Amino acid sequence: TFMEVVKAALSHVYATQERAAIRAEQKSYGYAQIVASAVNISNLLHDADVKTVKEGCTASGSAEVVNGSRYLHGARVGIVAKPSAEFVAAILGTWLRGGVAVPLAISYPESELLHVMNDSDVSMILSTPEHQETMENVAAKCSAKVSLIPTVTSMPSNNMFSEHSGEEAIDLVAELIREIEDSSMIKGDYPALILYTSGTTGKPKGVVHTHKSIIAQVQILSEAWEYTNNDQFLHCLPLHHVHGLFNALFAPLYAGSVVEFMPKFSVRGVWQRWRDSYPKDGNKAADAITLFTGVPTMYTRLLQGYQTMDSDLQKACASAANQLRLMMCGSSALPFPVMKQWEEVTGHRLLERYGMTEFVMAISNPLHGVRKGGTVGKPLPRVEVKILAEDGSEVGTRGVGELCVRSPSLFKEYWKLPKVTEESFTDDGFFKTGDTVTTDEDGYYIILGRTNADIMKVGGYKLSALEIEAILLEARKSYISRTSIHKAVSECCILGLPDEDYGEIVCAIIAPHSDARSSAEQEQKPAITLEDLRSWSTDKLAPYKIPTKLFLWDSLPRNAMGKDYIRLSDELSSAGAL
Ligand code: ATP
Ligand code: MG
Repeated sequence: TFMEVVKAALSHVYATQERAAIRAEQKSYGYAQIVASAVNISNLLHDADVKTVKEGCTASGSAEVVNGSRYLHGARVGIVAKPSAEFVAAILGTWLRGGVAVPLAISYPESELLHVMNDSDVSMILSTPEHQETMENVAAKCSAKVSLIPTVTSMPSNNMFSEHSGEEAIDLVAELIREIEDSSMIKGDYPALILYTSGTTGKPKGVVHTHKSIIAQVQILSEAWEYTNNDQFLHCLPLHHVHGLFNALFAPLYAGSVVEFMPKFSVRGVWQRWRDSYPKDGNKAADAITLFTGVPTMYTRLLQGYQTMDSDLQKACASAANQLRLMMCGSSALPFPVMKQWEEVTGHRLLERYGMTEFVMAISNPLHGVRKGGTVGKPLPRVEVKILAEDGSEVGTRGVGELCVRSPSLFKEYWKLPKVTEESFTDDGFFKTGDTVTTDEDGYYIILGRTNADIMKVGGYKLSALEIEAILLEARKSYISRTSIHKAVSECCILGLPDEDYGEIVCAIIAPHSDARSSAEQEQKPAITLEDLRSWSTDKLAPYKIPTKLFLWDSLPRNAMGKDYIRLSDELSSAGAL
């Protein structure tokens, strides 16, 4: 149960009284301080007279409402805080009080915030002062209350707990745990967290995770990637999504690592932080970063930043980056050229893995052993996968079909969408991901894309948009090596457009690199023409995979996780292109 997370946190309190759990804005926060703050927040929720649900949190929302109960009994608590010690304390405090945490994206426009708040029916918002005003305005529209998250005391401090000694705070938590366990309201399969999917293929769905699924995932990840209390994680991701929340926060905290937040990813900031960690060859700072994870666009940007440095700085950055223990990548497909370029610069072969809000992580390249570009590796420990054909039969070796996953980390249900939940599982409890995949000769999994959006049917052939994108992005190499800038493709998206003869035709949307754009402007011609693209592709793509339509855009709209929205078809139709 989630108690194990708290207990693990407590064991780190004993073991690492003086050690930081979180670092943010040049301040450090110990495990003890975070736990003490979580206790405060849980008391605050106790006193807040929150609307609670007697029968616990059910997807149908039909349970009886009771006010002023000692426990939240599954009431939803929205959390609005940038990545910080306060965020971590708020989520633990919510769990201690039996609530279901709903991390809200601070970057969302008000309409999306309201959608999530109404849909999850939050009765309480825990917010930091900087978001208070916005949140009070939004909360007024959905009858939620806003409470401020008390500032967590930072280290070093002689007085680790403002009111209690360390031992006392630990006793207090232990007592709370006993009470909650005794009240039998909170069992392992009790809901703990609602996360919203990225909304790539439709409206974001609320995914309900339980204490059991969370702890299972946290154990799987810390084991697979061997997180330890010697690790220090540089964290630059949002916290309303599994990548930032599980891979880079819960799992490292569970293992006793330090998590250092850089709430706004900055290319200079990241290179600088690595350089500070490893100032000279062989030197290592006490707070040296050992772990990093990012979405593919972050690595692309870091490489672009690297290109603009002088050669001394490049050397220092590359050598510092090289000394980290592990660099990981995911959330969308890592283009092979980016992976290769990254390895050339830093000596790190990025560990790409595959995950989803519904089960967090399922497939990963190995920590030890061969990491294969263009693949996401093999199933993680305790995760079972199978590939099903359209008729529901399992495909043979190297066959293509829908990936299905069974894992102790599987979500419980889609919030208030019982029908969708039911349709998403096979009879034997495998979750149908909606992603089309295959395996290579060594049994490594290759993600071909979303069955509904990335797999095109062109004149009887099935094509993977991701595969064509990966090839076109090879053109980006020419930018990175600064040779031929003219054909530089900075970003691209492939999608199928409806066609009477072929069913669909392959359309490319390309954002040329700004240098290529400006020199083309001077010459008063497009940065890339369809003819350029087609002739460049002839020896790289089968004829039926070569795009027959091309749009040049300044950039591709992406959400906070670097995914293109709904494969851009909405944008295309609103731009009148369809
Ligand atoms: P929605 O479910 O609302 O349409 P979404 O599926 O994008 O949005 P997430 O749960 O954030 O929401 O993303 C999961 C998806 O991300 C996977 O189904 C997969 O398509 C994609 N993905 C994750 N990791 C990788 C990867 N390494 N390579 C390719 N695709 C990946
Ligand atoms: Mg999805």
